[in-house]
Amino acid sequence: MLRKFCPRCAKETDELFEGLCRDCYLETAKFVEVPQNISVLVCRCGRSNEKKKWVQNVSVEEMIERVVMSNVRKDKDTDVRQEYEPFGINGKTLVPVCVVARRVVGGREIEKSAQLVFTIIPQTCDVCSRVSGGYYEAIIQIRGPVHRREQVLELVKRIVDQYKDTDKFSFITQVQDSKGGVDVYLGSSKIAGKIEQESKRIYNVASKVTHSVCGMKDGRALNRITILLRISD
Ligand SMILES: [Zn+2]
Ligand SMILES: [Zn+2]
Repeated sequence: MLRKFCPRCAKETDELFEGLCRDCYLETAKFVEVPQNISVLVCRCGRSNEKKKWVQNVSVEEMIERVVMSNVRKDKDTDVRQEYEPFGINGKTLVPVCVVARRVVGGREIEKSAQLVFTIIPQTCDVCSRVSGGYYEAIIQIRGPVHRREQVLELVKRIVDQYKDTDKFSFITQVQDSKGGVDVYLGSSKIAGKIEQESKRIYNVASKVTHSVCGMKDGRALNRITILLRISD
């Protein structure tokens, strides 16, 4: 029987990976590269800051896997999986992640793992800071008989909820009782426009839109709209 030797360490072996023993192959082959540390700003609402933009996530786990994967450099014939222990977020949180790369060399499977530390840094996102700061772009004034007002208010809430994934400023800042009705403060004037259209389509509503400029923000005029929805019985 022909004996095989690793040309790098001279060890006798019966399996060679691209001409080297398993240990030497694992030491020298760069089939996966990961950074030692990855830090991401994460808001309590689950959004994370990536490339200076806040993005919505399905879960923290999904976010970690996606961010780690985008930082892994690997050959296309290499499969990568991630392993980490369950964790809870409490302030700045460090999650050790093991990245395991698997490839087939000469018909034999070989695995190589690399460690990295994923750091979650709590920070309030743009949406949450606007919500807590009482930000609004539009006021919907609902006027008319009480039971009809309730219906329109429900519609407003439904539309805001419906668009919250596509328009991050689709939120209600506050609902306030007002003379003859209720005022709803909204984070997005675009959503306010949709509410106007929908309430007119579904209910017997007359609307009146008033635009106003209320100061400047970051060098831009801050426009607010007030939409009066008057419901007939
Ligand atoms: Zn060797
Ligand atoms: Zn947030």
